Amino acid sequence: MRRSPRVRPRTVRLFPCAAALVAAAGLSQFAAPVEHRAAAASSAASTVCDGTPAQDALARKPAGDSSGQDPNAVSPAEAKAMQADLDDRLARTGSAHVPMAAVPTTVPVYVHVIHDGPAGRLDQSAVDAQIAHLNATYGGEGAGNTATGFHFEAAGFDWTDAPGWYTGMTPGSDAEKAMKSALRRGDRGSLNLYTAHLGESLLGWATFPNAYRSDPTDDGVVVLDDSLPGGPAVHYNEGNTATHETGHWLGLFHTFQGGCLPPGDYVDDTPPERSPAYGCPEGRHSCPGGGLDPIHNFMDYSYDSCMSQFTPGQVQRMANAWAAYRA
Ligand SMILES: [Zn+2]
Repeated sequence: MRRSPRVRPRTVRLFPCAAALVAAAGLSQFAAPVEHRAAAASSAASTVCDGTPAQDALARKPAGDSSGQDPNAVSPAEAKAMQADLDDRLARTGSAHVPMAAVPTTVPVYVHVIHDGPAGRLDQSAVDAQIAHLNATYGGEGAGNTATGFHFEAAGFDWTDAPGWYTGMTPGSDAEKAMKSALRRGDRGSLNLYTAHLGESLLGWATFPNAYRSDPTDDGVVVLDDSLPGGPAVHYNEGNTATHETGHWLGLFHTFQGGCLPPGDYVDDTPPERSPAYGCPEGRHSCPGGGLDPIHNFMDYSYDSCMSQFTPGQVQRMANAWAAYRA
């Protein structure tokens, strides 16, 4: 998810969220956007939220202010449990390393536009641009990027005029549950992408693939309507929120998962990172050894303009997770 910095830290949330929260600077009068994430609600993390109130305040506060914690980030123990589950499922299929060629080349995408009258009623071209952006970013376009085996194909669009869902939706809310219960389509291999004017300055959130079996209705990605390509979310309007959240939906952690300590994000070729990167801090080196921080990776919290990369290791992880949970 992503939210703006004006949100004050509140209580710890227990939503499973796997998205990165970035404050949409353009959505408020505050100069610095804030990102958030939510941790899994249980030991079996199901949703990734990039931005809880506390997290957001943390992530985008001025340098030197170390207060605040990210209560919704996936804990090392939760990540370990998720990895154990993934390993177990792969072992049962006898495929520790699934060839990307074994992954279906096409993922059907159902886009659900939630709006309040004219507000948020994205037109077809905006939706098409977002899907095209997913195909570009997952297809290897961009400096240092790696092509995945995933291609996204529009399977269905719908528009729902629902003021009660449109404004202020948050992960785990009654509005989210009602929306998904009414609109989700397809099976475990179908990407359901919802757009709305999210609450708490969130940019988006997603569920992890291991959560599908226990709550298939919840499965999917929710993004801020303003974050689509060409939208008004300054610094976050190139479509990379959906790319980031879909990365979670395909099984990726943040690059800063676990901080400097191994196994980090369970991907070998993403250098360790102590904390989220904001903006585009070239040369950032937050952990001893291991190379410069992966600030250009889609699974960090950088500006959309700063992101352009998935690594071969992340591509392999997505292929593994697909084979284990979504094939
Ligand atoms: Zn995230």
